[in-house]
Formats: sequence, structure tokens, C-alpha cells
Amino acid sequence: MEYGTKYKEILAEIRSLSPATDPILIAVSKKQPYEVIKQAYNEGIRHFGENYIQEAVEKFSKLFSEIPESKEQIKLHHIGPLQSGNIKKVVGFFQYVHGVGSLSALKELKKRAEKERQKIYFFIQLNLTNESQKNGIDPTEFLELKDSIRDINSELCQWEGFMVMGPSSGEAKETERVFESASNLRNSFSPKVKLSMGMSGDYLMATRYGSDYLRVGSLIFGERNI
Ligand SMILES: *Cc1c(COP(=O)(O)O)cnc(C)c1O
Repeated sequence: MEYGTKYKEILAEIRSLSPATDPILIAVSKKQPYEVIKQAYNEGIRHFGENYIQEAVEKFSKLFSEIPESKEQIKLHHIGPLQSGNIKKVVGFFQYVHGVGSLSALKELKKRAEKERQKIYFFIQLNLTNESQKNGIDPTEFLELKDSIRDINSELCQWEGFMVMGPSSGEAKETERVFESASNLRNSFSPKVKLSMGMSGDYLMATRYGSDYLRVGSLIFGERNI
């Protein structure tokens, strides 16, 4: 299985839709063993997404010690919900955090980034599906928090944009509604704000709605070992 080839195919497909800015394809390698990420790295993949901190630290520390130059080349994206207890481990290891779902988590993230003098880009996760079990803040809450978020935005803790997930059902109409409202919110707020949306089942639709960061796992790596 050639992960690099699959990655390039998906990226070419995304680019064929002529997005306004060149999107970043994140290869989501959660639950994939060390050998798989090593091969993916050797095949040219540089953006990796992981949900579970401990697992990510184990796999990528090993890669960084085996192939020292990989540490400079790889960008690590934390894509799961950001829990306060994990913030210490995220800063300095991951360069991007996509699942910031509360102002308190964001404040802690900034504190840590400043203390460690480590740069981190963050996404505010919006819950646009009305599913209560989903991480993220709803749009009304966001409007109340936006000035505070702007104040937190700094050189070391930099606001990159919004992260959204489609509905758990994967239903196409509802997914489209979610991506469209994310896109509208971005446009009404600031075109500079980036969107992190789209997974294996919906990355083309996400691209059509202007996604800048696509998070694709199973389509690149195959099914996960759970
Ligand atoms: C697992 C995961 C993905 C990738 O999902 P696939 O369906 O395997 O592409 C993307 N984003 C988040 C937040 C995830 O947890």
C-alpha cells in the first residue's frame, strides 16, 4: 500500500476543484502503527493528524529519534477535543490544535504556549450539527466570545480559524448545510479565517465550501486498528 501515492491522488482531486487558496491535506494517522507513519513519512507525507496524545507522542518521538530531520519537516495536528489535562503535552509537540471547544481551554493553551515559548496555531471548534455529544461551541456562543478570542490571539498562540465536523449520520444534505454555514460564518467574520473541515467521506464537499485544511484518515491509510 502506497500512502504517499494515495495522498497525492486525493490532493490532486482537491486541487482540481480550483480552491481559492491551496488547501493543506492532513493525513490522519490515529490508531495506525508506527511502521505505517514511518512509511508515510518516507513517501513524502508531512502533515499528520492524531487524536490521542500519548499514542502520538510514542509514535512520533520514535520517528524523530530514528530520522532526526523528520522533526523539522513534520507538522503535527491535534484534531481531537482539547481537554485541559492534555494541554501541557500538546504545546511543544503539536504545531496545530483543531479541537479548541471552550474559552477556558483556550486561555490555558495560551498560558502554556507563552510559558514554554512554543508557537501553536489553534482552531475554534464550532458545533454546527446541534448534536449535544459533539465537542465545540455553538455559533451564538461564538459571537459572545469572539472579542475574548481576538484578545487571546498572539504571536505564540495564533488563531488560524474554525474547525467543524459534519453530522455523525454522514447524511449528505445535512453535511452540506453544516459546511455551508461554516463557510458563511467565515465570510461574514473574516476571509482571513481558515476552515478545517472535511474527512474521508466528505472532503470534496468540504473543498467546494472553501475548506483550507482537510483531515483525511481511512481513505489514505485504510481501516484503523481499534
Ligand atoms: C478520525 C478523524 C478524522 C479522519 O477520519 P476519516 O474518516 O478516517 O477520514 C478527521 N477528523 C477528526 C476530528 C477525526 O477524529
